[in-house]
Amino acid sequence: MRDFWQYQWQALKFLALTTMFFMLTTAAMAAEIQDMRIWTAPDHTRVVFDLSKSIDYKIFRLHAPERIVIDIKYSTIKKITLVTASDPVVKSVRYGMPKKSILRVVLDVKERVDLRSFLLKPMHHKPHRLVVDLLRESAIAHKNKSKTIMRKRQHDIIIAVDAGHGGEDPGAIGRHGLLEKEVTLRVAKKLVALINSKPGMHAILTREADYFVPLKKRVKLARQAQADLMISIHADAVKTRSVQGASVYTLAERGATPDRVAVALAAKENAADAIGGVVLDDAVDDPMVRNILGDMAKRDSLNSSQLLAENVLVEMKKIGVIKYKSPKRARFVVLGALEIPSVLVELNFISNPKQERKMKNSKHQDRFATALYEASKNFFRRMGMLHSNQYAPSS
Ligand SMILES: [Zn+2]
Repeated sequence: MRDFWQYQWQALKFLALTTMFFMLTTAAMAAEIQDMRIWTAPDHTRVVFDLSKSIDYKIFRLHAPERIVIDIKYSTIKKITLVTASDPVVKSVRYGMPKKSILRVVLDVKERVDLRSFLLKPMHHKPHRLVVDLLRESAIAHKNKSKTIMRKRQHDIIIAVDAGHGGEDPGAIGRHGLLEKEVTLRVAKKLVALINSKPGMHAILTREADYFVPLKKRVKLARQAQADLMISIHADAVKTRSVQGASVYTLAERGATPDRVAVALAAKENAADAIGGVVLDDAVDDPMVRNILGDMAKRDSLNSSQLLAENVLVEMKKIGVIKYKSPKRARFVVLGALEIPSVLVELNFISNPKQERKMKNSKHQDRFATALYEASKNFFRRMGMLHSNQYAPSS
């Protein structure tokens, strides 16, 4: 009899221990939502959840009232307050636990939207992430409206101004916290305003606010606008604080002798897609670059990009230090529109505290914009697209 009870006691102990073990492992298994961010783009809203680990989730829409439901298995959530007031799609975010094993996050939305969602693995100091894109149907009307604006300006020279990074992808970060994506957007907006204040030229932005645009979409937007020129604006960073100076890049031909510095920079800039979060349908391959352009046209376009880049260096030299005397080449995705003369400009090193301070300064941002405007103008003049009496110097 005593043996029996002893056996029972052992069994009970075993049961208690295994239960505890399972409870502990379930707790260890549970993912935690640690933060949430909202990025508002003209045609969609992106909601990003930072996760402690990868999750198993289900997402669906419910109507009347319109809402998006995300059910996440075995998860918890930190108390998060999310300001959604200025977003045209998301009204509010709520969460609860309809079952013990399910965390339910509900996005109340102002209009019917299409959904796209995907998980991102940790990279560049970012944790596991769940990205939910709410694609606006009303954005189609917005697109048609901008096409009408384009048609009115058919006789203008069109410049696509590309503000590097945005949204989830901050780009380089200065010692005092200045983000590359902020500098690039401010300079880009100033450049667009300057161009649009002059007759005969019209500028468009590939990114208008703080949201992420995939690299190939930037190229596509420049093409849709039928741009005659594209300038992609960036700011560089390295570990050594003292490094400074502007640099300019163009697209390298396939098979060209690689320039070590330019290749490293291109790899860094091309990583924007992975950091910002790109899904497959964003990255549609554009057949134009690969097939349609003949060798002659490619050569012409690369030569004009080189001329544009040289003009940019001349103007950048007037307002500060230059890192390299001549433009460098590498395979930057954002310079993929071979039929459009395109350059990528690193305004300076945001990692240099003195340059960071300058880049933050609105007057210095004006100088950058003026330099890029003058370079474009001189380029079009040399290409015979502008007559020298058409423009008085802007300064
Ligand atoms: Zn950059």
